[in-house]
Amino acid sequence: VKTDNISYAYTLGIIILLISLPIGLIISYPVSKIYMTTNKLYSENLRYIDTIDKYVITMTVGTDKKITDVSSALCNVSGYKKEELIGEKPSIFKSGEMDDKVYKDLWSKITNGFVWSGDLQNKTKDGSVYWLKTNILPNLSFDNKVVESYTSLSEDITDKKQIEIISQTDKLTQLYNRLKLDESLENEMNRFTRHNDIFSIILIDMDKFKSVNDNYGHQVGDSVLIELSEILKKHSRKIDIVGRWGGEEFMIICINTDIKGATHFAENLRTLVEEYKFDVVKHKTISVGVTEVKRTDNIETLIKRVDEYLYEAKENGRNKVISDLES
Ligand code: GH3
Ligand code: MG
Ligand code: MG
Repeated sequence: VKTDNISYAYTLGIIILLISLPIGLIISYPVSKIYMTTNKLYSENLRYIDTIDKYVITMTVGTDKKITDVSSALCNVSGYKKEELIGEKPSIFKSGEMDDKVYKDLWSKITNGFVWSGDLQNKTKDGSVYWLKTNILPNLSFDNKVVESYTSLSEDITDKKQIEIISQTDKLTQLYNRLKLDESLENEMNRFTRHNDIFSIILIDMDKFKSVNDNYGHQVGDSVLIELSEILKKHSRKIDIVGRWGGEEFMIICINTDIKGATHFAENLRTLVEEYKFDVVKHKTISVGVTEVKRTDNIETLIKRVDEYLYEAKENGRNKVISDLES
């Protein structure tokens, strides 16, 4: 080969080179294309993840109920640093103002593999309140058999909530206003018709309130209404809807409460007011009507009945509670 066919060997070498170069090019082209696309996708993904981290409020919690990850957006809204949250329980965010039933319902749903959606009132590290509209999704294992962790995705709805709260609040007493009471009555009525969840309503009217205005002036009248509102709010349960029905009349919607419970509560309130010393006017009393929702009721018949009881209490000398039990 060395001596006789050297030129043949060169030719062969050149032929191999000429064939392998284009083949090599042909083969490497799609491979390099795949590499470039993957690279592009990877950096796009990183940018996407970064944007999500910055703008989407998310949190991941393990099955041991400890936080394993939070987004920068959640850190911003809550005022905590990431290091302060990892390993903590999500209850660190609780405002303490929400009914525990909400959290119980939330955990029972997600631990059973369902998605929970709802509004959560939280508090920041320095104690101010914010609201999150939240969806919590259970993360299932590869075989879809067990829940491995939970991820929450939230939207900051604090501004919206504040407007909602203002639109539902009575300016003078800071109790719920008539709008909220009407809305709640409708909700409770629907829940009663669908799920048979009973409720009772208490209608309260201040006795001889006009004389407060006549004798002491409108401003003192206002402060009496504020003091009475504080008594009503302080002694009601968190789930009860306490509102101003109008003028010197108040309504309490007692959720999941039968007539015995509601009458007992109303009697308590009547005694509390009777024994309370108002700032200027000292002693005032209230008359109260109490009724439990019935199968045949609609909102109008329910209110008519409780109004009649209140009238009966006035007729019977005031400072009285009249309910389905006495009537
Ligand atoms: P009764 O025992 O029969 O209920 O007597 P009353 O004087 O309480 O009843 P009446 O309905 O005659 O009077 C209610 C008064 O409440 C009349 C109204 O001027 C007063 N009032 C209604 N809203 C307000 C308010 O926001 N502030 C003040 N100061 N007074 C109010
Ligand atoms: Mg009245
Ligand atoms: Mg009155």
